[in-house]
Amino acid sequence: MTGKLTVVGLGPGGAELTTPAVTKALAEATDLVGYTTYIDRVPEGARGQRRHASDNRVEVERARHALELAAEGRTVVVVSSGDPGVFAMASALFEAIETGEPAWRALDIRIEPGVTAMLAAAAHAGAPLGGDFCAISLSDNLKSWETIERRLEAAARGDFVIALYNPASMARPGQLNRAFDLLRAVKSSETVVAFVRAAGTPDARLRLAKLADADAAGVDMRTMILIGSSRTRAIDRPEADPWIYTPRSERDVA
Ligand code: SAH
Repeated sequence: MTGKLTVVGLGPGGAELTTPAVTKALAEATDLVGYTTYIDRVPEGARGQRRHASDNRVEVERARHALELAAEGRTVVVVSSGDPGVFAMASALFEAIETGEPAWRALDIRIEPGVTAMLAAAAHAGAPLGGDFCAISLSDNLKSWETIERRLEAAARGDFVIALYNPASMARPGQLNRAFDLLRAVKSSETVVAFVRAAGTPDARLRLAKLADADAAGVDMRTMILIGSSRTRAIDRPEADPWIYTPRSERDVA
């Protein structure tokens, strides 16, 4: 088999946060596969790739389509936002391979990493991930809400900084506030909560709250929420957002 399939992460939004390796893979592609919104972020290449944009939410089907194209000998790039392995297409691809045509295992398959939203949001806020942290998706499309609550509680008890992906959707209003209620039962009401919207783009915006007052209002699908550990704090500065950071040490050094 001569076909090639690369799954790339475009980064969080701004073109300058797309890695050169991803740009190179896109330039070499004969076919682009992905969600319409992400395909639209790829500038039209000189060679005019075939674009297989879809609003299909069934990601494994999209992955199968990409594998069929690669098996025909095409050079296929599957696009994700952020990093392709973080709540995104790379896993869907391996799911399709595991259950699909044995010949697909002989294809040249690569994953090109990207800047995930959590890192872009953290950089915008300061350095909140300086200690141990974890990432949880609040989407219950692929797992139960009970699982999400169990993991939130474990993360709170472990005093991790918690990055919340997929914090909100029209289909499930109220779940984010339930998550905040659950965290309030375990963590200090003084805990720093940072809401970062459109991180890594010129429209990036930071909103801060104490966990006591954290609320889902204004949170959308382009928002990342970073919930501090007991060590996370804010450094105020004049006429600008405070810096949020988590010291690397468990103790304050005199
Ligand atoms: N693969 C992607 C994540 C897909 S899940 C990545 O690595 O970034 C989609 C969620 O990511 C969104 O609901 C939102 O919570 C977060 N997200 C994506 N882009 C973002 C951005 N520019 N700013 C803040 N959050 C973002």
